[in-house]
Amino acid sequence: MQTPYYLIDKARLLRNLEKIAWLRNASGAKSLLALKCFATWSVFDLMAEYMDGSTSSSLYEVKLGYEKFGGETHAYSVAYAEDEIAEVLANSDKIIFNSIGQLDRFESVAQDHVRGLRVNPGVSTSEFDLADPARPFSRLGEHEPAQIAAVADRISGLMFHNNCENDNFNRFDEMLTLIEDRFGATLHKMAWVSLGGGIHFTGPDYPLDKLAGRLKRFAEDFGVQVYLEPGEATITGAATLEVTVLDTLHNGKNLAIVDSSIEAHMLDLLIYREPAKISPDTGAHEWMICGKSCLAGDIFGEFRFDAPLTAGDRISFQDAAGYTMVKKNWFNGVKMPGIAIRELDGTVRLVRDFGYDDFKAALS
Ligand SMILES: *Cc1c(COP(=O)(O)O)cnc(C)c1O
Repeated sequence: MQTPYYLIDKARLLRNLEKIAWLRNASGAKSLLALKCFATWSVFDLMAEYMDGSTSSSLYEVKLGYEKFGGETHAYSVAYAEDEIAEVLANSDKIIFNSIGQLDRFESVAQDHVRGLRVNPGVSTSEFDLADPARPFSRLGEHEPAQIAAVADRISGLMFHNNCENDNFNRFDEMLTLIEDRFGATLHKMAWVSLGGGIHFTGPDYPLDKLAGRLKRFAEDFGVQVYLEPGEATITGAATLEVTVLDTLHNGKNLAIVDSSIEAHMLDLLIYREPAKISPDTGAHEWMICGKSCLAGDIFGEFRFDAPLTAGDRISFQDAAGYTMVKKNWFNGVKMPGIAIRELDGTVRLVRDFGYDDFKAALS
């Protein structure tokens, strides 16, 4: 198969999905896939067996979830436009408004739909300002308990999303307690509550049993159906980006140029200034792996190999699913990676390839 391509490994995906299903059984909390993190619908059939549905950030995502994932489809957006709302409602079971302003604005068209409101508890676990929903002056959700209480009779649920790659159960527990204390009166009037994504509960040492117990207690105390919206936790470790070395050169360091680009194919890493990962990353030879775009800083990172690299060598970057495939772009006209799936029986099939016509069609 010709590189570059993203390779989704269903066996690795399954390990996460089994934990998600376990958590649902033990806690009663339903899990909806957050499509903004991962929207590669060729594996939705497998995921839908272990999850309850999908949640979205836009009209197009909610349509995709409705069409390709099935189950329960939650619609959320930071702001809906007048000309999208009818289609959003037609493609969702629940709509979660980001503000009371939007709840008011769409009162007449949405009043017969199951409606919820995003609440911003003012605390989060994000280490980056850029991704911190509780950053100062945040537009993500309503924060004033009294104002939220005043619209409680028009909604049946609340959505909180304030965790971000949080692998610390105690921190999650503390923040949930804060939510209970601050918004308890309104929570008691609700039928469902989504606690959003960002809980890294599929990680290797996460105390899943404690999480299950905490979620169950929350559900019982407030009489609500709990939802989680895992994105990264669902697909962590489940895909790689497969590339080939095209050229090598030396300028104080060993440099290898590959047939891909971090700017175009793993943009999230560049935004958060994190290197890509390869496994194993051991060996006597250190090489800087560079993208083929003309952006000077198009660098995947420095890694260790057993032997010097030469043109034709294959490299596999780990963790290429979450916030990666959804952000790929046509910068520099670099060939967009295809999408391949390793089935549970080990066979690999290419499900999508991209070519010049796709590049051309992305603009006009
Ligand atoms: C981004 C997001 C998610 C998914 O977050 P992960 O960190 O990928 O689990 C879930 N819900 C909402 C509202 C989000 O904005």
